[in-house]
Amino acid sequence: MSKDITVCLSYDFDAMSVWIANFRTASPNALSRGEFGQVGAQRLLALLAEYDIKSTWFVPGHTIEAFPVECQRLVAEGHEVGHHGYCHENPARLELEKEQAILERGIALIKDLTGRAPRGYRSPAGSFSANTLRLLSDHGFLYDSSMLGNDFTPYYCRDGIKASIDAPYDFGKAVELVEMPFSWNLDDFPFFEYTSSRRGISPGLADPARVYDVWAGDFEYLYTKMGKGVFILTMHPQVIGRGHRLLMLERFLQDLKSHEGVRFSTMSDFVQRWKAEHPFREIAPRLPVSLQS
Ligand SMILES: [Zn+2]
Repeated sequence: MSKDITVCLSYDFDAMSVWIANFRTASPNALSRGEFGQVGAQRLLALLAEYDIKSTWFVPGHTIEAFPVECQRLVAEGHEVGHHGYCHENPARLELEKEQAILERGIALIKDLTGRAPRGYRSPAGSFSANTLRLLSDHGFLYDSSMLGNDFTPYYCRDGIKASIDAPYDFGKAVELVEMPFSWNLDDFPFFEYTSSRRGISPGLADPARVYDVWAGDFEYLYTKMGKGVFILTMHPQVIGRGHRLLMLERFLQDLKSHEGVRFSTMSDFVQRWKAEHPFREIAPRLPVSLQS
């Protein structure tokens, strides 16, 4: 059977926003870790150009304002810009009006940057409020990439999920928003980034060879056992942009490129193709019995 694998490289260009909003710090030292995102972004754009790969960047509005040159460059070089909050706010902690205002502020900044509204969204904190899915649908988003209900197979999101310890699980109702699955094991941050906060210590600083094995292992399973699907990698310029990690990423890209039937794509280009092959009106009635297409 011939292989049909799409690789979507995604970059969350958080820069300082994650330290401001999530780590709640104004320390110049912590913020400088975010500033390094500019260096990482420049290196990544050079790498992607060298390998002729188009990718997807989820960029908070705060980063667009802080680093306009890099953001303009990624647009000029054919990469997609997706929504990632204004300043990396956790939607689960926001009232409806505030969440909507932040969503619209980010959309406006992306429109100014790219000339069009974003089609993709990734939750800055990896969590939704009860209103997030409806807000994304109301604002015309094509896809989300924040949930973990599958790995190499996209699916339609479901709104109104109800979970209780004394009632059967309610899968909610399918909505016409495609989920491009996310996973922590295909994310560079927990492997590599040392952080210390009131919530505890995340040791990070993993040996890149170990991370390579995890990423290559997931890809090998997709390639050999499934043969068809999408491989979504989540990276952060301030994390993957360090020299030894970039060298690992380059080796991994070479490995992916050496496989027959593998192509690289932005997420929105892939989702448009996937939706055409899996129309919502045909798949939605089968949910939740068959969550996969
Ligand atoms: Zn982020």
